[in-house]
Amino acid sequence: MYMYEDGRSRRVIFLAHCALNQNAISDGTAVAPALLEEALEAIRRAGDVGIVQMPCPELLCLGLDRGDPLGAERPVTEENTRIRAALGAEGPRQRLEELAEQVACQIRQYQDSGFQVLGIVGMNRSPSCGVDTTSDGGREVAGQGLFVGRIAALLAKEGRSVPLLGLRGEEETALAALAALCRGERPRP
Ligand code: SF4
Repeated sequence: MYMYEDGRSRRVIFLAHCALNQNAISDGTAVAPALLEEALEAIRRAGDVGIVQMPCPELLCLGLDRGDPLGAERPVTEENTRIRAALGAEGPRQRLEELAEQVACQIRQYQDSGFQVLGIVGMNRSPSCGVDTTSDGGREVAGQGLFVGRIAALLAKEGRSVPLLGLRGEEETALAALAALCRGERPRP
């Protein structure tokens, strides 16, 4: 008898926490009251895709105010650069690595049980969850955020492959890429 041959689809996607809960995002950067409705709709329309909400590493490592209640007064990429440095300090870095391991652990469980992990969806420009771009040196630069980078490194070490997709908000191209990911298509490099 095979396991998991019940009502479930055995298809999941991993989504940045703030896509489903804008209340967690750093002060001054929320673009919606609660969740990114169109992104969620793109996933829902794809049909039968379970959403795994990843933890918000900045909230859990630095706090909701990211360790500076005045953070929203700086330009976003400058504040993001400060957050990036704060996450690199020993305590927060250890916590971030634990959180990344928890995500990797879930991915292992699903993949080793024959489920399809359609992708990890991060948020571009974020010092933590950026996929194509992140913030460093006071600017938005190409590269991954610390959290996504750590998850990707853990998976790569084990020879696991999970497509990564970075959203910014809900631009048409990003939504189309998300819908394609949910259909099992890999994002273009
Ligand atoms: S991008 Fe990542 S760290 Fe930033 S609010 Fe969203 S989940 Fe948290």
